[in-house]
Amino acid sequence: MNLAFTVDADGWVSAARKLPSPNFEARPEGAVPTLIVVHNISLPPNEFGGTAIAELFQNTLDCDAHPYYDTHLRGVRVSAHFVIHRDGALEQFVSCNERAWHAGPSNFFGRERCNDFSIGIELEGSDTTAFEAAQYRTLGALVTALKARYPVEGLAGHSDIAPGRKTDPGPHFEWQRLQRDTVLADQYFPYLKFPRVP
Ligand SMILES: [Zn+2]
Repeated sequence: MNLAFTVDADGWVSAARKLPSPNFEARPEGAVPTLIVVHNISLPPNEFGGTAIAELFQNTLDCDAHPYYDTHLRGVRVSAHFVIHRDGALEQFVSCNERAWHAGPSNFFGRERCNDFSIGIELEGSDTTAFEAAQYRTLGALVTALKARYPVEGLAGHSDIAPGRKTDPGPHFEWQRLQRDTVLADQYFPYLKFPRVP
């Protein structure tokens, strides 16, 4: 069964569960999304399920609930545009027309402040676990829908644009599977080495 999404003129995917985050601002004058950044996240780290990611992005996470939250997440104000859960369920926190706070200090081939011109997608996962087929299905459909709405020129991992600081989406993320699913040309994956070993 083929999954298909559409992005409306206001930058929202109608099929996504809408959970608005306050952690965004207007993109700079004239900036449009040209880059898609793929992340992984799990809260607590390496534990899947639950509502902590949404709570973090909506500034309602109880930082007394876990030692990791207490030491790493207190006062943190972040949000990606999208989260894709282990079962493929899609949540949207920020309109794609707005600048979400997902990438931090970053550099895409010399262009800094990647949040200005990117859309952030979090896969619920970790650097040590394979992602689920349902997540690739949702991600492929989402990337296809985003490319139909915006002049997307490339995709990158968070670790590609913030090397040394970030490691996600990690070694288990299958970029070639995403390329196959989206039927996008090599030029959209500038961090992949071509030609590749089969
Ligand atoms: Zn990330």
